Amino acid sequence: MSLTSPRHADPHSPVFDISGRKIAYFSMEIALAKTLPTYSGGLGMLAGDSLRSAADTGVPLVAVSLVHRRGYFEQHLEANGQQSESDVVWSPESTLPSANQTITILLQGREITLCAWRFDVVGVTGHIIPVFLLDADVEGNDPWDRHLTDHLYGGDTYYRLCQEAILGLGGIHLLHALGCEPEVCHMNEGHAALLAIGLLESRVAPSPLHTATEADAEAVKQTCVFTTHTPVPAGHDKFGLDQMMQVLGPDRSSVIERFGCLHNDLLNMTYVALRFSRYVNGVAMLHGKVSQQMFPEYPVHSITNGVHAATWLSQPFQQLLDREVPEWRHDNQYFRSVYGIEPEVIEATHAPSKLRLLATVKQRTGVELDPKVLTLGFARRVATYKRANLVLHSPERLIEIADRIGGLQILMAGKAHPADNAGKGLIRDIFSVAAKLESSKLRVLYLENYDWDLGEQLTNGVDVWLNTPLRPYEASGTSGMKAALNGVPSLSVLDGWWVEGCAEGITGWAIENCENEGIEAERVYDKLENAVAPMFADKARWARLRRHCIAINGTYFNTHRMLGQYVANAYFPPSASIAASNQVIIDDEAPQSVLA
Ligand SMILES: *Cc1c(COP(=O)(O)O)cnc(C)c1O
Repeated sequence: MSLTSPRHADPHSPVFDISGRKIAYFSMEIALAKTLPTYSGGLGMLAGDSLRSAADTGVPLVAVSLVHRRGYFEQHLEANGQQSESDVVWSPESTLPSANQTITILLQGREITLCAWRFDVVGVTGHIIPVFLLDADVEGNDPWDRHLTDHLYGGDTYYRLCQEAILGLGGIHLLHALGCEPEVCHMNEGHAALLAIGLLESRVAPSPLHTATEADAEAVKQTCVFTTHTPVPAGHDKFGLDQMMQVLGPDRSSVIERFGCLHNDLLNMTYVALRFSRYVNGVAMLHGKVSQQMFPEYPVHSITNGVHAATWLSQPFQQLLDREVPEWRHDNQYFRSVYGIEPEVIEATHAPSKLRLLATVKQRTGVELDPKVLTLGFARRVATYKRANLVLHSPERLIEIADRIGGLQILMAGKAHPADNAGKGLIRDIFSVAAKLESSKLRVLYLENYDWDLGEQLTNGVDVWLNTPLRPYEASGTSGMKAALNGVPSLSVLDGWWVEGCAEGITGWAIENCENEGIEAERVYDKLENAVAPMFADKARWARLRRHCIAINGTYFNTHRMLGQYVANAYFPPSASIAASNQVIIDDEAPQSVLA
């Protein structure tokens, strides 16, 4: 990649020179380090993995997010599966260098001053992606305002709108104050859409925003790129016009209205982002098509997600690859080279990760699982469309299978959003089914507090990754990609990335979706009993399957490849006409009914 930043700032200097950074990446959450609670789930992981790949491959990028002083939350589960939450308090001042820059914006009709903390994502060759975490806890601010950057996805819609204004408006003004005028601003999900209004404000300054013309709006649009991440309606933030007026004020509100960003008389962040972006994409081929149906008046492209290989590959696999193809760290195409490694070596490299996982399970739950028994993993944010309970639809049938195939172990994990009572009920349901299995050959365990560390141990160590979303709501899914990298096949509904990653019996198995959940569950059981278990029993075939997962899917579903596609198609397309011709064509394969 020929995009290496022309300037090399001293990472130890208190001020990081970002004037040469061409791309600004905005995300409400970013998973930066295991110890920092600045993410909730897949969106933040993807953001973090994208930045880690940008660092490894030398992309001139800078990122902006919020500091989230009280994190998302830590999950506690009672014996019956009842979830409670506690804050994860951290202190940026004792952890990170300051950006040494404050800015002031007008919000809720009063001034708010924002400072920022800098986290450096350091790549394999030392290239740094600076991430600025905006912080409203500044002396002199209104006491209520000082808490605006405390809780990721906490509070009500008013609090959320204030946060999105801080991210978008504050983020742009901070970058400009730091001397960075990005050529491209990437909105990672609609939460960041107000950056377009920030760009517009800067453009017309010192004149007031209402003087912005169509030409100004067009210039902003030529700067912005937008990635939409979910077809689930709740994932698209909407705010009442009264809230818009209260938080953003009359000048910004009238501009938002004048440039056609309102939708159904609401401030809809997805529509703000669509209106002001020259390139829009979904996060897998199918999701691009579904999004194109949702927003027919805007061209929607697809760039399929990936994961940062060095973040998700187990230590034993990292050591193996460092010996065999050390270049894999900056060029993930070398994963194809695992075809030059004996399958038994791959199998032996996976084994310690399973033992490590089972040791963690023992330590956390007291339950001793058997490393010889087929072990499935299912861990994700508990959203009802992800259907964590589908595999437990018929416990009797599952027990029967477990008896027939010499045992079955299912490890589950996931947090429900504190306000999601349906999700919390789902966790309790799983606990109640699991409690009744005591004497059978089937073990189902639900592990507390799914986070980066547990996600790593599960995807590294299980035998099969299970995924049963209601199609087409799983836009991409990335945990199955982490598993594939570690030689773990997926048993999954054909949704999201799996449409592109499934080679039946080679990288895993597809579950055909169906209107009827009972039938869909039956299909899971059939595949488990008649395809997965027989192959697991044949050690030589299973080892070859593991190798296919890495060679075929590891090579592709990584953020090095993904970011390369963003650079080539979204950030710096060879020409606008080529970008337009890559637009997703809707065909009748794209599911329509569920979106009606
Ligand atoms: C990878 C990851 C996710 C996203 O996985 P999905 O398959 O998209 O659900 C969420 N949370 C954590 C902790 C992860 O590591």
